[in-house]
Amino acid sequence: MSRFYITTAIDYANGDPHLGHAYEKVGADVIARWRRLRGDQVWFLIGMDEHGQKVAQTAADRGLSPQALTDLVAERFQAMWRILGISHDQFIRTTAEAHKKGVQELIELIFQRNPDDFYEKSYAGNYCVGCESFKAEAEIVDGKCVLHPTRTLEWVEERNWFFRLSRYQQFLEKLFADRPDFLGPESRRNEILGLLKEGLEDISASRSRFSWGVPFPRPTSDGEQQSTYVWFDALPNYWTGTRVPGVGSAWPAQLHVVGKDITRFHCVIWPAMLESAGLQLPEKVWAHGFIYLGGERFSKSAGVKLELSEAIERFGPDPFRFYLIREVPWETDGNFSWERFAELYNAELANGLGNLASRVLAMVEKYREGVVPSGTLATLEDAGDRAVEQYAARMDGLDLKGGIEAALGLVSEANLAIQHAAPWALAKDPAKGGELDQVLGGLCRALVRLALMFSPVMPVKAQELWTALGQAGEVSKTPWSRAAAPEVAGSRVTKPEGLFPRPEPGVKS
Ligand SMILES: [Zn+2]
Repeated sequence: MSRFYITTAIDYANGDPHLGHAYEKVGADVIARWRRLRGDQVWFLIGMDEHGQKVAQTAADRGLSPQALTDLVAERFQAMWRILGISHDQFIRTTAEAHKKGVQELIELIFQRNPDDFYEKSYAGNYCVGCESFKAEAEIVDGKCVLHPTRTLEWVEERNWFFRLSRYQQFLEKLFADRPDFLGPESRRNEILGLLKEGLEDISASRSRFSWGVPFPRPTSDGEQQSTYVWFDALPNYWTGTRVPGVGSAWPAQLHVVGKDITRFHCVIWPAMLESAGLQLPEKVWAHGFIYLGGERFSKSAGVKLELSEAIERFGPDPFRFYLIREVPWETDGNFSWERFAELYNAELANGLGNLASRVLAMVEKYREGVVPSGTLATLEDAGDRAVEQYAARMDGLDLKGGIEAALGLVSEANLAIQHAAPWALAKDPAKGGELDQVLGGLCRALVRLALMFSPVMPVKAQELWTALGQAGEVSKTPWSRAAAPEVAGSRVTKPEGLFPRPEPGVKS
Protein backbone atom coordinates (compact mmCIF):
# COMPACT_ATOMS: atom_id res chain seq x y z
CA MET A 1 0.00 0.00 0.00
CA SER A 2 1.45 3.33 -0.88
CA ARG A 3 0.81 6.68 0.69
CA PHE A 4 -1.00 9.26 -1.41
CA TYR A 5 -1.33 12.74 0.03
CA ILE A 6 -3.32 14.90 -2.40
CA THR A 7 -4.21 18.58 -2.06
CA THR A 8 -6.15 21.19 -4.04
CA ALA A 9 -5.62 24.93 -4.07
CA ILE A 10 -7.23 26.57 -1.07
CA ASP A 11 -10.03 28.91 -2.13
CA TYR A 12 -10.18 32.65 -1.47
CA ALA A 13 -12.80 33.34 1.15
CA ASN A 14 -14.30 36.38 -0.54
CA GLY A 15 -17.26 34.95 -2.43
CA ASP A 16 -19.38 31.89 -3.10
CA PRO A 17 -18.14 28.68 -4.68
CA HIS A 18 -18.49 28.71 -8.48
CA LEU A 19 -18.09 26.22 -11.27
CA GLY A 20 -14.32 26.67 -11.43
CA HIS A 21 -13.96 25.71 -7.77
CA ALA A 22 -16.28 22.74 -8.28
CA TYR A 23 -14.34 21.49 -11.30
CA GLU A 24 -11.07 21.45 -9.37
CA LYS A 25 -12.54 19.78 -6.28
CA VAL A 26 -14.43 17.14 -8.29
CA GLY A 27 -11.33 16.32 -10.37
CA ALA A 28 -9.15 15.95 -7.28
CA ASP A 29 -11.91 13.95 -5.59
CA VAL A 30 -12.04 11.52 -8.51
CA ILE A 31 -8.28 11.03 -8.19
CA ALA A 32 -8.51 10.56 -4.40
CA ARG A 33 -11.35 8.05 -4.74
CA TRP A 34 -9.50 6.17 -7.49
CA ARG A 35 -6.39 5.96 -5.33
CA ARG A 36 -8.38 4.62 -2.39
CA LEU A 37 -10.03 2.07 -4.67
CA ARG A 38 -6.70 0.81 -5.95
CA GLY A 39 -5.57 0.39 -2.35
CA ASP A 40 -3.48 3.46 -1.57
CA GLN A 41 -3.52 5.06 1.85
CA VAL A 42 -5.02 8.40 0.82
CA TRP A 43 -5.13 11.71 2.64
CA PHE A 44 -7.08 14.44 0.82
CA LEU A 45 -6.71 18.06 1.93
CA ILE A 46 -8.77 21.05 0.78
CA GLY A 47 -9.53 24.36 2.47
CA MET A 48 -9.80 28.11 2.48
CA ASP A 49 -7.33 30.95 2.00
CA GLU A 50 -8.71 33.49 4.43
CA HIS A 51 -6.15 36.25 4.76
CA GLY A 52 -5.20 39.11 2.50
CA GLN A 53 -6.35 42.51 1.43
CA LYS A 54 -9.05 41.19 -0.91
CA VAL A 55 -10.81 39.36 1.92
CA ALA A 56 -10.48 42.36 4.26
CA GLN A 57 -11.95 44.66 1.59
CA THR A 58 -14.89 42.37 0.89
CA ALA A 59 -15.61 42.10 4.62
CA ALA A 60 -15.50 45.90 5.01
CA ASP A 61 -17.83 46.33 2.01
CA ARG A 62 -20.31 43.99 3.66
CA GLY A 63 -20.00 45.53 7.10
CA LEU A 64 -18.49 42.40 8.63
CA SER A 65 -15.28 41.65 10.45
CA PRO A 66 -12.86 39.63 8.29
CA GLN A 67 -13.23 36.67 10.65
CA ALA A 68 -17.04 36.78 10.49
CA LEU A 69 -16.90 36.91 6.69
CA THR A 70 -14.51 33.98 6.43
CA ASP A 71 -16.57 31.90 8.88
CA LEU A 72 -19.61 32.47 6.71
CA VAL A 73 -17.84 31.76 3.43
CA ALA A 74 -16.06 28.66 4.76
CA GLU A 75 -19.42 27.21 5.80
CA ARG A 76 -20.88 27.87 2.32
CA PHE A 77 -17.96 26.13 0.63
CA GLN A 78 -18.18 23.15 2.96
CA ALA A 79 -21.94 22.85 2.36
CA MET A 80 -21.29 22.79 -1.38
CA TRP A 81 -18.61 20.10 -1.02
CA ARG A 82 -21.04 17.96 0.97
CA ILE A 83 -23.63 18.23 -1.83
CA LEU A 84 -21.02 17.30 -4.42
CA GLY A 85 -19.77 14.32 -2.41
CA ILE A 86 -16.20 15.60 -2.07
CA SER A 87 -14.41 13.04 0.10
CA HIS A 88 -11.71 15.22 1.67
CA ASP A 89 -10.17 14.04 4.91
CA GLN A 90 -9.22 17.49 6.15
CA PHE A 91 -10.44 21.05 5.64
CA ILE A 92 -7.80 23.61 6.47
CA ARG A 93 -8.49 27.28 7.14
CA THR A 94 -5.56 29.66 7.14
CA THR A 95 -7.08 31.60 10.06
CA ALA A 96 -6.68 28.51 12.29
CA GLU A 97 -4.10 28.94 15.05
CA ALA A 98 -2.21 25.77 14.08
CA HIS A 99 -1.76 27.07 10.54
CA LYS A 100 -0.62 30.53 11.64
CA LYS A 101 1.92 28.99 13.99
CA GLY A 102 3.09 26.68 11.19
CA VAL A 103 3.65 29.59 8.79
CA GLN A 104 5.78 31.36 11.37
CA GLU A 105 7.77 28.19 11.99
CA LEU A 106 8.41 27.76 8.28
CA ILE A 107 9.68 31.33 8.02
CA GLU A 108 11.86 30.77 11.08
CA LEU A 109 13.30 27.62 9.48
CA ILE A 110 14.36 29.78 6.53
CA PHE A 111 15.87 32.45 8.82
CA GLN A 112 17.85 29.78 10.66
CA ARG A 113 19.00 27.79 7.68
CA ASN A 114 19.52 30.57 5.14
CA PRO A 115 19.59 33.89 7.00
CA ASP A 116 20.39 35.79 3.81
CA ASP A 117 17.24 34.56 2.06
CA PHE A 118 15.22 37.31 3.77
CA TYR A 119 16.25 40.93 3.51
CA GLU A 120 14.56 44.31 3.81
CA LYS A 121 13.92 46.45 0.78
CA SER A 122 11.89 49.49 -0.14
CA TYR A 123 9.66 48.82 -3.02
CA ALA A 124 7.21 50.62 -5.25
CA GLY A 125 4.94 49.11 -7.83
CA ASN A 126 1.45 48.46 -9.13
CA TYR A 127 -0.34 46.06 -6.83
CA CYS A 128 -3.38 44.05 -7.95
CA VAL A 129 -5.60 43.12 -5.02
CA GLY A 130 -7.32 40.54 -7.26
CA CYS A 131 -4.05 38.67 -7.76
CA GLU A 132 -2.61 39.77 -4.40
CA SER A 133 0.64 40.50 -6.19
CA PHE A 134 2.67 43.23 -7.82
CA LYS A 135 2.22 43.35 -11.58
CA ALA A 136 4.95 43.85 -14.16
CA GLU A 137 4.37 46.34 -17.02
CA ALA A 138 3.72 43.44 -19.39
CA GLU A 139 0.80 42.27 -17.24
CA ILE A 140 -0.92 45.66 -17.34
CA VAL A 141 -3.22 46.72 -20.18
CA ASP A 142 -4.99 50.11 -20.18
CA GLY A 143 -3.82 50.65 -16.62
CA LYS A 144 -5.51 47.46 -15.38
CA CYS A 145 -4.36 43.96 -14.49
CA VAL A 146 -5.08 41.70 -17.49
CA LEU A 147 -6.65 39.11 -15.17
CA HIS A 148 -8.76 41.65 -13.26
CA PRO A 149 -9.96 44.33 -15.66
CA THR A 150 -12.64 45.52 -13.22
CA ARG A 151 -10.19 46.31 -10.41
CA THR A 152 -8.09 49.42 -10.03
CA LEU A 153 -4.38 48.83 -9.55
CA GLU A 154 -2.91 50.34 -6.41
CA TRP A 155 0.41 52.18 -6.45
CA VAL A 156 2.14 50.80 -3.39
CA GLU A 157 5.36 52.06 -1.84
CA GLU A 158 6.61 50.29 1.24
CA ARG A 159 9.56 48.73 2.99
CA ASN A 160 9.10 44.96 3.29
CA TRP A 161 10.82 41.75 3.96
CA PHE A 162 11.89 40.21 0.66
CA PHE A 163 12.60 36.58 -0.15
CA ARG A 164 15.67 35.96 -2.30
CA LEU A 165 13.92 33.91 -4.97
CA SER A 166 16.65 34.79 -7.49
CA ARG A 167 19.05 32.56 -5.54
CA TYR A 168 16.95 29.54 -6.52
CA GLN A 169 17.23 30.02 -10.28
CA GLN A 170 19.71 27.16 -10.75
CA PHE A 171 18.00 24.97 -8.22
CA LEU A 172 14.72 25.29 -10.11
CA GLU A 173 16.36 24.76 -13.50
CA LYS A 174 17.87 21.56 -12.17
CA LEU A 175 14.58 20.49 -10.62
CA PHE A 176 12.78 20.78 -13.95
CA ALA A 177 15.63 19.08 -15.81
CA ASP A 178 15.94 16.19 -13.35
CA ARG A 179 12.25 15.64 -12.76
CA PRO A 180 10.36 16.07 -16.03
CA ASP A 181 7.23 14.79 -14.28
CA PHE A 182 7.32 17.39 -11.52
CA LEU A 183 4.78 19.57 -13.32
CA GLY A 184 2.06 18.38 -15.65
CA PRO A 185 0.64 18.75 -18.17
CA GLU A 186 3.47 19.39 -20.64
CA SER A 187 2.02 22.73 -21.81
CA ARG A 188 2.24 24.17 -18.28
CA ARG A 189 5.75 22.83 -17.86
CA ASN A 190 6.83 24.74 -20.96
CA GLU A 191 5.39 27.95 -19.52
CA ILE A 192 7.47 27.61 -16.37
CA LEU A 193 10.60 26.76 -18.35
CA GLY A 194 10.00 29.97 -20.33
CA LEU A 195 9.59 31.92 -17.11
CA LEU A 196 12.85 30.54 -15.73
CA LYS A 197 14.65 31.60 -18.91
CA GLU A 198 13.62 35.20 -18.28
CA GLY A 199 15.30 35.08 -14.86
CA LEU A 200 13.70 35.25 -11.43
CA GLU A 201 13.19 38.36 -9.33
CA ASP A 202 13.03 38.41 -5.55
CA ILE A 203 9.55 38.63 -4.08
CA SER A 204 7.94 40.46 -1.21
CA ALA A 205 7.39 38.22 1.82
CA SER A 206 5.55 40.72 4.02
CA ARG A 207 3.20 43.67 3.76
CA SER A 208 3.51 46.73 5.94
CA ARG A 209 0.36 48.85 6.16
CA PHE A 210 -1.92 45.95 6.27
CA SER A 211 -2.85 43.68 9.13
CA TRP A 212 -5.34 40.93 8.13
CA GLY A 213 -2.75 38.19 8.00
CA VAL A 214 -0.26 36.10 9.92
CA PRO A 215 2.18 38.34 11.84
CA PHE A 216 5.60 38.06 10.16
CA PRO A 217 7.72 36.51 12.92
CA ARG A 218 10.49 39.11 12.87
CA PRO A 219 10.05 42.90 12.96
CA THR A 220 11.83 45.10 10.42
CA SER A 221 15.00 46.93 11.47
CA ASP A 222 12.94 50.01 12.43
CA GLY A 223 10.81 47.82 14.70
CA GLU A 224 7.69 47.52 12.53
CA GLN A 225 5.59 44.38 12.93
CA GLN A 226 4.43 43.40 9.44
CA SER A 227 2.01 40.78 8.22
CA THR A 228 3.07 37.85 6.09
CA TYR A 229 2.43 38.31 2.39
CA VAL A 230 -0.61 36.25 1.51
CA TRP A 231 1.19 33.76 -0.77
CA PHE A 232 3.78 33.14 1.93
CA ASP A 233 0.85 32.36 4.19
CA ALA A 234 -1.25 30.33 1.72
CA LEU A 235 1.30 27.99 0.12
CA PRO A 236 2.53 26.53 3.42
CA ASN A 237 -0.98 25.15 4.18
CA TYR A 238 0.01 21.92 2.44
CA TRP A 239 2.79 21.52 4.99
CA THR A 240 1.13 23.04 8.08
CA GLY A 241 -1.86 20.74 7.47
CA THR A 242 0.34 17.71 8.07
CA ARG A 243 1.42 19.04 11.47
CA VAL A 244 -2.04 19.15 13.03
CA PRO A 245 -2.17 16.44 15.73
CA GLY A 246 -4.19 13.42 14.68
CA VAL A 247 -4.18 13.99 10.92
CA GLY A 248 -3.21 11.09 8.71
CA SER A 249 -1.00 12.88 6.23
CA ALA A 250 2.72 13.38 6.22
CA TRP A 251 4.84 15.76 4.22
CA PRO A 252 5.66 15.67 1.30
CA ALA A 253 2.49 15.64 -0.80
CA GLN A 254 2.32 13.21 -3.70
CA LEU A 255 0.13 15.57 -5.73
CA HIS A 256 -0.85 19.26 -5.64
CA VAL A 257 -3.84 19.95 -7.89
CA VAL A 258 -4.04 23.65 -8.83
CA GLY A 259 -5.42 25.90 -11.55
CA LYS A 260 -3.17 26.91 -14.41
CA ASP A 261 -3.19 30.56 -13.28
CA ILE A 262 -1.26 29.79 -10.09
CA THR A 263 1.33 27.38 -11.50
CA ARG A 264 4.11 29.92 -10.98
CA PHE A 265 3.39 30.12 -7.26
CA HIS A 266 3.34 26.33 -6.90
CA CYS A 267 6.23 25.46 -9.20
CA VAL A 268 8.64 28.33 -8.60
CA ILE A 269 7.97 30.09 -5.29
CA TRP A 270 6.80 27.06 -3.27
CA PRO A 271 9.72 24.75 -4.20
CA ALA A 272 12.16 27.59 -3.48
CA MET A 273 10.58 28.22 -0.06
CA LEU A 274 10.74 24.52 0.79
CA GLU A 275 14.32 24.17 -0.36
CA SER A 276 15.30 27.23 1.62
CA ALA A 277 13.62 25.79 4.74
CA GLY A 278 15.28 22.40 4.20
CA LEU A 279 12.01 20.60 3.56
CA GLN A 280 11.22 18.03 0.88
CA LEU A 281 9.47 19.07 -2.33
CA PRO A 282 6.06 17.70 -3.37
CA GLU A 283 6.25 14.84 -5.86
CA LYS A 284 4.05 16.39 -8.48
CA VAL A 285 2.02 19.47 -9.34
CA TRP A 286 -0.89 19.19 -11.76
CA ALA A 287 -2.26 22.39 -13.31
CA HIS A 288 -5.73 21.92 -14.76
CA GLY A 289 -7.38 24.31 -17.20
CA PHE A 290 -10.44 26.50 -16.87
CA ILE A 291 -14.09 25.99 -17.66
CA TYR A 292 -15.60 28.66 -19.83
CA LEU A 293 -19.18 29.66 -20.42
CA GLY A 294 -19.73 31.06 -23.89
CA GLY A 295 -15.98 31.53 -24.19
CA GLU A 296 -15.51 33.41 -20.90
CA ARG A 297 -13.93 32.18 -17.72
CA PHE A 298 -16.16 31.66 -14.71
CA SER A 299 -15.06 34.04 -12.09
CA LYS A 300 -16.55 36.51 -9.72
CA SER A 301 -14.31 39.34 -10.81
CA ALA A 302 -15.07 38.86 -14.49
CA GLY A 303 -18.79 38.78 -13.75
CA VAL A 304 -19.36 35.51 -15.62
CA LYS A 305 -21.77 33.53 -13.58
CA LEU A 306 -23.81 30.38 -13.50
CA GLU A 307 -25.60 29.28 -10.37
CA LEU A 308 -23.71 26.22 -9.22
CA SER A 309 -26.68 24.86 -7.27
CA GLU A 310 -28.87 25.10 -10.39
CA ALA A 311 -26.29 23.21 -12.44
CA ILE A 312 -26.15 20.45 -9.83
CA GLU A 313 -29.91 20.19 -9.33
CA ARG A 314 -30.71 19.83 -13.01
CA PHE A 315 -29.58 16.19 -13.21
CA GLY A 316 -28.26 15.56 -9.70
CA PRO A 317 -24.76 15.66 -8.15
CA ASP A 318 -23.39 12.45 -9.70
CA PRO A 319 -24.34 13.30 -13.31
CA PHE A 320 -22.90 16.78 -12.72
CA ARG A 321 -19.60 15.24 -11.57
CA PHE A 322 -19.70 12.92 -14.58
CA TYR A 323 -20.35 15.77 -16.98
CA LEU A 324 -17.46 17.92 -15.70
CA ILE A 325 -14.92 15.12 -15.91
CA ARG A 326 -16.28 13.57 -19.10
CA GLU A 327 -16.49 16.86 -20.98
CA VAL A 328 -13.50 18.88 -19.85
CA PRO A 329 -10.09 17.26 -20.33
CA TRP A 330 -8.14 17.45 -17.09
CA GLU A 331 -5.22 19.10 -18.86
CA THR A 332 -6.82 21.75 -21.07
CA ASP A 333 -9.70 24.21 -21.00
CA GLY A 334 -13.27 23.26 -21.67
CA ASN A 335 -16.68 24.76 -22.10
CA PHE A 336 -19.84 24.36 -20.05
CA SER A 337 -23.02 24.09 -22.08
CA TRP A 338 -26.50 22.97 -21.08
CA GLU A 339 -27.05 21.44 -24.53
CA ARG A 340 -23.97 19.28 -24.23
CA PHE A 341 -24.79 18.35 -20.64
CA ALA A 342 -28.26 17.12 -21.67
CA GLU A 343 -26.85 15.34 -24.70
CA LEU A 344 -24.25 13.41 -22.67
CA TYR A 345 -26.71 12.68 -19.89
CA ASN A 346 -29.21 11.18 -22.32
CA ALA A 347 -26.74 9.32 -24.53
CA GLU A 348 -24.26 7.98 -22.01
CA LEU A 349 -26.09 7.81 -18.69
CA ALA A 350 -29.84 7.38 -19.36
CA ASN A 351 -29.57 5.40 -22.63
CA GLY A 352 -26.09 4.01 -22.00
CA LEU A 353 -25.22 2.83 -18.51
CA GLY A 354 -28.71 3.25 -16.99
CA ASN A 355 -30.51 1.41 -19.75
CA LEU A 356 -27.92 -1.38 -19.76
CA ALA A 357 -28.27 -1.94 -16.02
CA SER A 358 -32.06 -1.92 -16.01
CA ARG A 359 -32.35 -4.28 -19.00
CA VAL A 360 -29.84 -6.79 -17.64
CA LEU A 361 -31.28 -6.83 -14.13
CA ALA A 362 -34.84 -7.09 -15.46
CA MET A 363 -33.86 -10.10 -17.60
CA VAL A 364 -32.13 -11.83 -14.67
CA GLU A 365 -35.32 -11.25 -12.69
CA LYS A 366 -37.57 -12.48 -15.46
CA TYR A 367 -35.62 -15.45 -16.82
CA ARG A 368 -33.59 -16.61 -13.78
CA GLU A 369 -35.77 -15.64 -10.84
CA GLY A 370 -33.38 -12.86 -9.89
CA VAL A 371 -30.32 -15.04 -9.36
CA VAL A 372 -27.25 -14.35 -11.52
CA PRO A 373 -26.46 -17.51 -13.47
CA SER A 374 -22.97 -18.89 -13.76
CA GLY A 375 -21.51 -18.17 -17.19
CA THR A 376 -19.29 -15.85 -19.20
CA LEU A 377 -19.39 -14.34 -22.65
CA ALA A 378 -15.99 -14.46 -24.39
CA THR A 379 -16.34 -11.14 -26.25
CA LEU A 380 -17.43 -9.30 -23.11
CA GLU A 381 -14.67 -10.86 -21.02
CA ASP A 382 -12.08 -9.57 -23.48
CA ALA A 383 -13.69 -6.15 -23.71
CA GLY A 384 -13.94 -6.02 -19.91
CA ASP A 385 -10.30 -6.98 -19.37
CA ARG A 386 -9.23 -4.34 -21.86
CA ALA A 387 -11.44 -1.65 -20.36
CA VAL A 388 -10.25 -2.31 -16.81
CA GLU A 389 -6.60 -2.23 -17.85
CA GLN A 390 -6.99 0.97 -19.89
CA TYR A 391 -9.03 2.59 -17.17
CA ALA A 392 -6.40 1.95 -14.48
CA ALA A 393 -3.52 3.15 -16.65
CA ARG A 394 -5.32 6.33 -17.64
CA MET A 395 -6.49 7.15 -14.12
CA ASP A 396 -2.96 6.63 -12.81
CA GLY A 397 -1.75 8.99 -15.55
CA LEU A 398 -4.38 11.61 -14.50
CA ASP A 399 -6.25 11.19 -17.80
CA LEU A 400 -9.61 11.22 -16.04
CA LYS A 401 -11.66 11.78 -19.18
CA GLY A 402 -9.82 8.88 -20.82
CA GLY A 403 -10.60 6.68 -17.82
CA ILE A 404 -14.31 7.39 -18.15
CA GLU A 405 -14.12 6.72 -21.87
CA ALA A 406 -12.62 3.28 -21.19
CA ALA A 407 -15.58 2.48 -18.92
CA LEU A 408 -18.07 3.87 -21.43
CA GLY A 409 -16.48 1.62 -24.07
CA LEU A 410 -17.52 -1.39 -22.01
CA VAL A 411 -21.07 -0.02 -21.71
CA SER A 412 -21.28 0.09 -25.53
CA GLU A 413 -19.84 -3.42 -25.86
CA ALA A 414 -22.36 -4.78 -23.37
CA ASN A 415 -25.29 -3.08 -25.11
CA LEU A 416 -24.06 -4.52 -28.43
CA ALA A 417 -23.77 -7.97 -26.85
CA ILE A 418 -27.44 -7.80 -25.85
CA GLN A 419 -28.44 -6.92 -29.40
CA HIS A 420 -26.39 -9.75 -30.89
CA ALA A 421 -27.42 -12.40 -28.39
CA ALA A 422 -31.10 -11.42 -28.22
CA PRO A 423 -31.65 -13.03 -24.79
CA TRP A 424 -35.44 -12.69 -25.15
CA ALA A 425 -35.26 -15.08 -28.13
CA LEU A 426 -32.96 -17.50 -26.27
CA ALA A 427 -35.42 -17.51 -23.36
CA LYS A 428 -38.14 -18.87 -25.63
CA ASP A 429 -36.15 -22.00 -26.51
CA PRO A 430 -35.57 -24.37 -23.56
CA ALA A 431 -32.64 -25.95 -25.45
CA LYS A 432 -30.78 -22.63 -25.27
CA GLY A 433 -30.82 -22.28 -21.49
CA GLY A 434 -27.02 -22.72 -21.27
CA GLU A 435 -26.48 -20.02 -23.85
CA LEU A 436 -28.81 -17.68 -21.98
CA ASP A 437 -26.84 -18.32 -18.77
CA GLN A 438 -23.65 -17.31 -20.55
CA VAL A 439 -25.16 -14.09 -21.85
CA LEU A 440 -26.75 -13.02 -18.56
CA GLY A 441 -23.78 -14.13 -16.47
CA GLY A 442 -21.40 -12.29 -18.80
CA LEU A 443 -23.48 -9.12 -18.71
CA CYS A 444 -23.63 -9.12 -14.91
CA ARG A 445 -19.87 -9.53 -14.76
CA ALA A 446 -19.55 -6.46 -16.98
CA LEU A 447 -21.87 -4.54 -14.63
CA VAL A 448 -19.67 -5.43 -11.64
CA ARG A 449 -16.68 -3.97 -13.46
CA LEU A 450 -18.67 -0.89 -14.43
CA ALA A 451 -19.81 -0.24 -10.85
CA LEU A 452 -16.16 -0.33 -9.77
CA MET A 453 -14.92 1.86 -12.61
CA PHE A 454 -17.66 4.47 -12.21
CA SER A 455 -17.42 4.64 -8.42
CA PRO A 456 -14.73 7.38 -8.27
CA VAL A 457 -16.71 9.70 -10.56
CA MET A 458 -20.30 8.79 -9.56
CA PRO A 459 -20.01 7.36 -6.04
CA VAL A 460 -23.74 7.35 -5.22
CA LYS A 461 -24.96 5.90 -8.52
CA ALA A 462 -22.20 3.28 -8.55
CA GLN A 463 -23.26 2.18 -5.08
CA GLU A 464 -26.90 1.88 -6.21
CA LEU A 465 -25.79 -0.34 -9.07
CA TRP A 466 -23.57 -2.37 -6.73
CA THR A 467 -26.42 -2.99 -4.32
CA ALA A 468 -28.81 -3.83 -7.17
CA LEU A 469 -26.30 -6.46 -8.30
CA GLY A 470 -26.74 -8.09 -4.90
CA GLN A 471 -23.26 -7.13 -3.70
CA ALA A 472 -22.78 -6.50 -0.01
CA GLY A 473 -20.91 -3.54 1.46
CA GLU A 474 -19.52 -0.49 -0.25
CA VAL A 475 -18.28 -0.62 -3.81
CA SER A 476 -15.69 2.05 -2.92
CA LYS A 477 -14.18 -0.26 -0.30
CA THR A 478 -14.02 -3.27 -2.59
CA PRO A 479 -10.51 -4.35 -3.59
CA TRP A 480 -9.74 -3.21 -7.13
CA SER A 481 -8.62 -6.79 -7.95
CA ARG A 482 -12.32 -7.60 -8.13
CA ALA A 483 -12.46 -5.68 -11.44
CA ALA A 484 -10.15 -8.28 -12.97
CA ALA A 485 -12.17 -11.17 -11.52
CA PRO A 486 -15.78 -9.96 -11.33
CA GLU A 487 -17.34 -13.12 -9.88
CA VAL A 488 -21.04 -12.50 -9.38
CA ALA A 489 -22.81 -15.85 -10.09
CA GLY A 490 -25.35 -16.77 -7.42
CA SER A 491 -26.00 -13.16 -6.35
CA ARG A 492 -29.61 -12.11 -5.88
CA VAL A 493 -30.30 -8.97 -7.92
CA THR A 494 -32.88 -6.26 -7.42
CA LYS A 495 -34.04 -3.66 -9.86
CA PRO A 496 -32.52 -0.22 -9.14
CA GLU A 497 -34.95 2.69 -8.93
CA GLY A 498 -34.09 4.13 -12.33
CA LEU A 499 -30.38 4.96 -12.08
CA PHE A 500 -30.58 7.83 -14.55
CA PRO A 501 -34.19 8.87 -15.12
CA ARG A 502 -34.86 10.83 -18.27
CA PRO A 503 -35.83 14.41 -17.46
CA GLU A 504 -39.56 14.92 -17.03
CA PRO A 505 -41.30 16.43 -20.04
CA GLY A 506 -41.43 20.18 -19.62
CA VAL A 507 -38.14 20.32 -17.71
CA LYS A 508 -35.87 22.53 -19.71
CA SER A 509 -32.74 20.77 -20.85
ZN1 LIG B 1 -4.92 40.76 -11.00
